[in-house]
Amino acid sequence: MTKIGIVGCAGRMGQMLVAEVLNGEGLALSGGTERPGGDAVGRDLGELLGRGRLGLPVGSDAKALFAASDVVIDFTSASAAAIHAQLAAETRTAYVVGTTGLAADQEASLRQAATRTAVVWAPNMSVGVNLLFSLVEQVAALLDPATYDIEILEMHHRHKVDAPSGTALGLGQAAARGRDVALDSVWQKTRDGLTGPRKAGDIGFATLRGGDVVGDHTVVFAADGERIELSHKASSRQIFAKGAIRAARWVIGRPPGLYSMKDVLGLA
Ligand code: NAD
Repeated sequence: MTKIGIVGCAGRMGQMLVAEVLNGEGLALSGGTERPGGDAVGRDLGELLGRGRLGLPVGSDAKALFAASDVVIDFTSASAAAIHAQLAAETRTAYVVGTTGLAADQEASLRQAATRTAVVWAPNMSVGVNLLFSLVEQVAALLDPATYDIEILEMHHRHKVDAPSGTALGLGQAAARGRDVALDSVWQKTRDGLTGPRKAGDIGFATLRGGDVVGDHTVVFAADGERIELSHKASSRQIFAKGAIRAARWVIGRPPGLYSMKDVLGLA
């Protein structure tokens, strides 16, 4: 049995991941943690999910959970992921991270951890979006930046705390790779006021927030007289949870390194 731990187990994604582990063949839940002092700490994990007592309380000792697991899955917050990355490195536990919005120093913790253990890090764990990353890179490589403007539009539910979404930034990176430029030299993450005309080669982002939208992304290639749009719409978080479980099964036993869903899905 593969022992999987879920940090942030009471969150939207965390609860879904716990359910996937409990239903998964050959998988055992080694436990779940929440932020120390959080409301869910001490509650029974099964009862939290509304499926009856499991006899496994939500913990707050992340280090003990890493030590007791073959792999830990993290959909928490950027600051928590940076701490969890250190624990993954210390305990040499395989680590799957879906958390987005990491600042440069938090990203550095993840890269550091990947020198000591196997880490899968992906802003979006769905098969469809990872295919979209590849398509966007190919299309961007084919279309002349002087003729085609790239704009990336995303919409998410009202609770999302980071913007643009990690997936939108991932799509921007794919487009920039296709054009052989660094994303941070061409991105326009916000526009406000008298911006002046659009610069050829820029990659623009637009963010919408509202309701319960799980995640919509569209990459627009706009020219004079025509426009190509590549879109993905997620209607259930289950696609992310299933992708994370697939990554967890895949990463066990891999040498230390930073892997992506492209590696997991064999699209690399
Ligand atoms: P959420 O707020 O519902 O859940 C996050 C949970 O983490 C909360 O329960 C919170 O209490 C917990 N947490 C925070 N700090 C913690 C700590 N130190 N230890 C343990 N638990 C801690 O959010 P969500 O919608 O589930 O999303 C979580 C993250 O996953 C976000 O960054 C989101 O963008 C990302 N996400 C990624 C994908 C993907 O496919 N990669 C898909 C969906 C969401």
